[in-house]
Amino acid sequence: MSARPNAPRLDEVLPARAAWSAILRRGEVLRIIDQDGQQAVDTLFYNAADTAERYSAQDTLLAQGSAYVATGTRLLSNEGRVLATVVGDTCGLHDTSAGACSCEANTVRFGHHTRFMHACRENFVLEGMRYGLQKRDIVANVNFFMNVPVRPDGELAIVDGVSGPGSYVEVRAEMDVLVLVSNCPQVNNPCNGFNPTPIRMLVWANPDG
Ligand SMILES: [Zn+2]
Repeated sequence: MSARPNAPRLDEVLPARAAWSAILRRGEVLRIIDQDGQQAVDTLFYNAADTAERYSAQDTLLAQGSAYVATGTRLLSNEGRVLATVVGDTCGLHDTSAGACSCEANTVRFGHHTRFMHACRENFVLEGMRYGLQKRDIVANVNFFMNVPVRPDGELAIVDGVSGPGSYVEVRAEMDVLVLVSNCPQVNNPCNGFNPTPIRMLVWANPDG
């Protein structure tokens, strides 16, 4: 793990399948560590001052002209402003096309017996309620550490993750942002290696702030 000059102001381990949230002040850096490898981390960003402004996967992909999220990706809002920038990455491959797993999608993809399995969309809804968000506020998200190649015919595939133990991604807030995270509980496809595991969240204060 690369060093940062100061101690983080926040250092928490998020258990497998759990939700998490934080307000990042402008200039703060969030590092998400995939402790055991192959763990998808579903993530949403909102303008903390006005959550009607929120992450837009469509605008982000259109602006950068690439299908994946990597170092340098500017995570844009639905108003075309930069919410956050990916400033560090040891994995190299992150998705923002496949969305979050939900109970409804699970039943379509994997059968009705999966209806009662916990899903990312529930994590987002439950965590977002703490900030006054509702179902309608949960939009297409970033899937850190999730390997979703876009096939030549345009189809998406969810395949084995390339994220090894200890891989991390770093995101710098470009305004005050609310971050919602679902440590993906999915066990019906390989996005978590069929074994959801804990992740570690660190936040560094703005060195200039
Ligand atoms: Zn999920």
